[in-house]
Amino acid sequence: MIEINSPIEPLCFKLFKQKQISVYIKRDDKIHPFISGNKWRKLKHTIADAKQKNKTHLVSFGGAYSNHLNALACAGAMFGFKTTAFIRGDEGVSNQMLALNKLWGMEFIYTDRTSYRDKETLFENHFGQDENAYFVNEGGAGILGAKGCQEIVTELTDSYQHIFCAVGTATTLQGIAQAIKDQQLTTKAEGICVLKGAENIDVELQKNQLQDYYKIHHQFHEGGYAKSNPKVMDFITMFASKTGILLDQVYTAKMMMAVFTLAEQDYFEPNSKILCIHTGGLLGLLGVLK
Ligand SMILES: *Cc1c(COP(=O)(O)O)cnc(C)c1O
Repeated sequence: MIEINSPIEPLCFKLFKQKQISVYIKRDDKIHPFISGNKWRKLKHTIADAKQKNKTHLVSFGGAYSNHLNALACAGAMFGFKTTAFIRGDEGVSNQMLALNKLWGMEFIYTDRTSYRDKETLFENHFGQDENAYFVNEGGAGILGAKGCQEIVTELTDSYQHIFCAVGTATTLQGIAQAIKDQQLTTKAEGICVLKGAENIDVELQKNQLQDYYKIHHQFHEGGYAKSNPKVMDFITMFASKTGILLDQVYTAKMMMAVFTLAEQDYFEPNSKILCIHTGGLLGLLGVLK
């Protein structure tokens, strides 16, 4: 298996000092160069479950820049699975991230946007007869995914008032909130939603009665999912040049920008300790760097 327990590093910025807060970053991006961040946490129990059920073929779903598919392709190769991905988009869509997946042996099935919506049916139509095939939800979402993300909290040795992560499917936030609840911590899980108009993204969290343990911020998506702008790119450059830490433009930069903005707005009590989860995803930079 892959060693997790990722390191925590302090972030030293004048703003944080002025506001008398301590901000740390948990480097889940260091878990693995390709099976990075929350994607390994989300896959860990899923892959164990597939192995236990003697499945040999992992089938999943994603867009052309899916960090989840990179993680799945690499992890699949590492743990002896064949991998197939339904790619949302036209036949022949290609880019460096998809090309990497091919090196790990992943096969693609290009799927138009309408059929892509019904993933169960796609799986059933293509692999219903293949008893070796195992369905892995888009983004690694689901119960087993959230279970792996609980370890973000259970492996901590210090306590924090706030733990921040980016929110796509909200599986990572769910794991964090669940662990906070189970351990009866006073920590608040804070999700920065990177999708526009996704006010219902937390149905699973509500179902699991986690509402007292998290908050989702919906004002930091910077235009919507995978939408970037010069402000985001400037922030990435500023942050990288001051810390050496790279952020991706889809998730982690928006999460980190939000923490800076909230600090400016005095959202945090003085003496607060804040932990930001670097959920990885750095290959996504390949989509925008020129
Ligand atoms: C997938 C991803 C997320 C979103 O995680 P969810 O569990 O789907 O909310 C956050 N950050 C990065 C870097 C990702 O690749």
